[in-house]
Amino acid sequence: MKYIDETNVSNKTVLLRLDLNVPIIDNKITDDFRILSSVKTINYLLQNNAKIVIFSHLGKIKEKEDLKKNSLKIVAKRLSEILNKKVYFFDKCYSSDLKSKIDEIPYGEVILLENTRYMDYPSNLESNCDMKLAKYWANLGDMFLFDAFGVSHRNHASTGGIARFLPTYLGYLMKEELAKLNMLINVDKRPFVVFMGGAKIESKIPIIKSLLPKADYLLLGGGVLNSFLKAKDIEIYDSLATSDQNTLQELKELLNKYREKIIITDEVVLKDNKIMDIKITKYIDYFKKAKTIFINGTPGVFEESDCAKGTKALFTELSLLDANIIIGGGDTVSYIKQTNRMDNFYHVSTGGGATLYYIATNKLLFLEKL
Ligand code: ADP
Ligand code: MG
Repeated sequence: MKYIDETNVSNKTVLLRLDLNVPIIDNKITDDFRILSSVKTINYLLQNNAKIVIFSHLGKIKEKEDLKKNSLKIVAKRLSEILNKKVYFFDKCYSSDLKSKIDEIPYGEVILLENTRYMDYPSNLESNCDMKLAKYWANLGDMFLFDAFGVSHRNHASTGGIARFLPTYLGYLMKEELAKLNMLINVDKRPFVVFMGGAKIESKIPIIKSLLPKADYLLLGGGVLNSFLKAKDIEIYDSLATSDQNTLQELKELLNKYREKIIITDEVVLKDNKIMDIKITKYIDYFKKAKTIFINGTPGVFEESDCAKGTKALFTELSLLDANIIIGGGDTVSYIKQTNRMDNFYHVSTGGGATLYYIATNKLLFLEKL
């Protein structure tokens, strides 16, 4: 796959797929990390006098009420402030006059179309990768530039769909994410220590399975830990854990096969009969020896202040190390942002599921069907 600086973009209409799916509360963007991460690519296109037509999703559109809640209009405003430049916001991403409206805008300008997932109401055209829709979108420009790392594991009309109809390139955010995450695919600085925490084990099993052969140690926390404890027949009371027998069997086999690698804390914190947090004391020595560290998921329910100690201790300890630390995962990263420790780490990924998918498979799903 080629990168955008390997082609000529001047006086071209570039369809740019970004991930501007930012959290919005009470009509305010609470975190603009994903917008900021897209600026380098936009500026490159502007410097080269391309006309930029941005596509992005925002939230999920299942019912009619979701349309209003998930408009990109306020994102256009924020993007315009960040770029210090007018951003043309088109309140539709599909209409009979969209092409002529785009044609009227001069080169060197930025257009943001309304949420691509508006096409999911009423019939999931975007998310089911409807090829007619993809072709319609592809006809709006000269080339496709994909820089939406957060949805690189989705084959949607605005990702893999458009890519089937136009010359396709990757942007600077993709370059940065892949370069940094490749460190976890070919690990050369060891020991390599992985911490997996968070809520549901099911979504994490593929990544655990792909990392265990490569990692020197896997340290556990959160609901992931609870499920492993349950697989070991340890009493976990009402804690969040899987009840699926196949999953528990799979965990048992992993515990057997990787007995020396899987490390489990001896200290858990109970609240209302549930394991809600852990103490990370036992893990600190492993982190101190590590040269490469990957973190996904939090050790406890950090949203409740009396269960946030483990999470706080984990990221404080990590911020003191000089190992290469890579952190991925939506909730995990949103926690770190609150702590102002972003700069202490080698890489904080903009992706959640996409990060895990890429590390587990070394593939970008949106390109698979090309
Ligand atoms: P990410 O989005 O970064 O992949 P997860 O969503 O898997 O991470 O993990 C973060 C979530 O895990 C938090 O919402 C946290 O409350 C939850 N969590 C952590 N520990 C526990 C636990 N012991 N029981 C239930 N939920 C937990
Ligand atoms: Mg999550």
